[in-house]
Amino acid sequence: MSQLRLQNLTKSFRGVPAVQDLWLDIRSGEIVSLLGPSGCGKSTTLQLIAGIRSPDAGVIELDGKILNRVPTEKRDMALVLQRGLLFPHLTVGENVAFGLKMRGVNRVEREQQSRAMLQQVQLEGFGDRKPSELSGGQAQRVALARSLVIRPKLLLLDEPLSALDANLREEMQSLILQLHAQTGVTLMLVTHDQSEAVVMSDRIALMFEGRLRQVATPEQLYQQPCDELTARFMGGVNFFTATAQDQQWRITQDVILTSHNSAQGQIQFTIRPEQIQLFPEPFPSVNLIPAIVVANRFTGMQRRLTLQISPEGSWPCSFQAWIAPTQNFAIGQTVWAYLPPDALWCFAESVLETEPMNVV
Ligand code: ADP
Ligand code: MG
Repeated sequence: MSQLRLQNLTKSFRGVPAVQDLWLDIRSGEIVSLLGPSGCGKSTTLQLIAGIRSPDAGVIELDGKILNRVPTEKRDMALVLQRGLLFPHLTVGENVAFGLKMRGVNRVEREQQSRAMLQQVQLEGFGDRKPSELSGGQAQRVALARSLVIRPKLLLLDEPLSALDANLREEMQSLILQLHAQTGVTLMLVTHDQSEAVVMSDRIALMFEGRLRQVATPEQLYQQPCDELTARFMGGVNFFTATAQDQQWRITQDVILTSHNSAQGQIQFTIRPEQIQLFPEPFPSVNLIPAIVVANRFTGMQRRLTLQISPEGSWPCSFQAWIAPTQNFAIGQTVWAYLPPDALWCFAESVLETEPMNVV
């Protein structure tokens, strides 16, 4: 079992930084996604780990062994790209067995392991086909089989599903999780799709412009983002400014919210739109505020309402509540929005923690 440790990883292309001072530990058997917009340095990071590129500075360590000078093929890693890059002249079975051949495994053993691996990726009986006779999804399954058959310590996946359509992508996500459960391989997945990172990962390393911004569980990234940019990347839409005195956060002259977190002075805070609950009538409670429905959008899974607090006040403040589609409110209707005290999250400075953050 392996542990990957990246220290101060740094790489520039012709003086332009692609990866800057990246520190990250990945535990044995863990699934970590490297998430971020296109061009932020995800693929470069993976290529540095795999040894396809060498870093300008920094250390890459696997199981306590420094790999900087170890060639790619001796790193006990496998890399799967967006398109599997299978050998076109070899059969599917030979493609899967290729890594074993390189390692000197005999023919009988190779064929046996290749067949078993194809069965694991649900391509039993495809061994004699050529790569040109496969669909995109099947080719990616062969690429996965080919990578896993050599039992790597670390499996690196660089946007392996981004060329597939949505239904197939979900099916492949399940297959990757299933293969992970069967093999226990440590897995690093690169994706620009936050929903993919959320369903796939134990932890997500969010990256912008060559730097890690926050490393956290999917839940923490949703509920405790380190800053507004992170919150927005994770689909956050509600941003408030307030004057805080400990757990009392004043957002307008009349509206003071109670939070489970303490803060002082001028703050910015967020709340996930799914965590706000709406009621047609008021009842005695903290954090229950009247608001008017100004927009109502049905998405199938949810109803996304835009609400405004004190529209006549000096500080018109709007926010979104995403509610179950079985609930509905009309535009123009006054509703009572409940903002749970434990769902109000005040941004701290950029934090790179795996533990829940303490708010100042
Ligand atoms: P991502 O995978 O997140 O989309 P990359 O790691 O591919 O990002 O690229 C990070 C940055 O480095 C980008 O600005 C990209 O243009 C640049 N870059 C990547 N590879 C090269 C290269 N071979 N030569 C010059 N610049 C490169
Ligand atoms: Mg990339």
